Amino acid sequence: MVVDDPVWNAIEPWMIEIRRGIHRHPELGLETPETAHRVEAVLDELGIAHTRPITNGVRGVLAADRPGPALLLRADMDALPIQEANDLPFRSEISDRMHACGHDCHTAMLLGAARYLQAHEAELRRPVILMFQPGEEGPGGAMPMIEAGILNGVEAGVMVHIDSDLEAGVIGLREGAAMGSCDDFRLTVHGRGGHGSTPHQGVDAIFVATAIVQAIQAVVSREQDAFDPLVVSVGTIHGGYRENVIADRVEMTGTIRAMSRAARERAVRRVGEVADGMARTYGARAEFVLDAGYPVFMADVPWTQRARHILTEALGPEAVRDVPPTLGVEDFAYVAERIPAFCIVVGIAGPQLTTGLHSAGLMVDERGLKTGAAALAAMALRS
Ligand SMILES: [Zn+2]
Ligand SMILES: [Zn+2]
Repeated sequence: MVVDDPVWNAIEPWMIEIRRGIHRHPELGLETPETAHRVEAVLDELGIAHTRPITNGVRGVLAADRPGPALLLRADMDALPIQEANDLPFRSEISDRMHACGHDCHTAMLLGAARYLQAHEAELRRPVILMFQPGEEGPGGAMPMIEAGILNGVEAGVMVHIDSDLEAGVIGLREGAAMGSCDDFRLTVHGRGGHGSTPHQGVDAIFVATAIVQAIQAVVSREQDAFDPLVVSVGTIHGGYRENVIADRVEMTGTIRAMSRAARERAVRRVGEVADGMARTYGARAEFVLDAGYPVFMADVPWTQRARHILTEALGPEAVRDVPPTLGVEDFAYVAERIPAFCIVVGIAGPQLTTGLHSAGLMVDERGLKTGAAALAAMALRS
């Protein structure tokens, strides 16, 4: 099995050092110059050719001389604006920044896979493209890299993402609708101010806003097929001046998550319509501004099934699970719209884990890195 190859004895600690180095210096969004440099330095050390399709995105290539089409392996490099709560020797050295989504692990795993594949390059039957992208947590780095041609000559894609619900040493697969779409919105209710003792002389934006918060849930509970998941959440609400003033304006923000294109399109339209209708009912006006996010991530079914077979051989049957879909989002969905693609969900839960992804106390069981790297390498060697 790929995972039992003694070569990993050297690669594993090397990969963990790389992960810790990246963990110390988290960078945000599309601004990941130091991480991109670090990736390039490692690729240079391995003798792997690389370019920069976008400012802080790196493309490496292995076995470029083999006949195509190529396979794409992808890692993201950006962190989150969170203050790390862990007391670790390699904790984040930058305040209010932390690799709390594991992109440090993804980058290290892809470099680990690259080193393994470099040692086995003679066995590669086709070129392997290594995609290191910034901006996954927003505003999106996959799309600019696609526009810069990263998918040219590529037949299929694979990404990795850690998961705190799976124990280290195990990977998970999802086929079909794997991850949700995300559309954020800002809803402003315009009423008419006045004295709190005479609400009939104004239009109370707070009253209208609360009616809208309630009414838009019907888009989920009364209009949506229960077998086609949809979530609408209002996350912030701000308005008003003091206890005896009728508020003339309320601002709300929220998010719409769906698992199908049809549900997404309908929900985005209906939330706006219901807000508008409810506001009119009470003589107010609703202004709905949509910030369209990533689409539904459709994991190609035949490709994922083939991967299940390859990964079961590479990691052993106990190490490969089917995991349920999630309404979390992923900009690799744009890749999956263009070529067959799926995600290797890499378990990182261990004895130190208390909180999950996107939390200040995320503790990764680094034994998962070898499993993830071996899975990526196996896909490149066997698919
Ligand atoms: Zn994340
Ligand atoms: Zn992530």
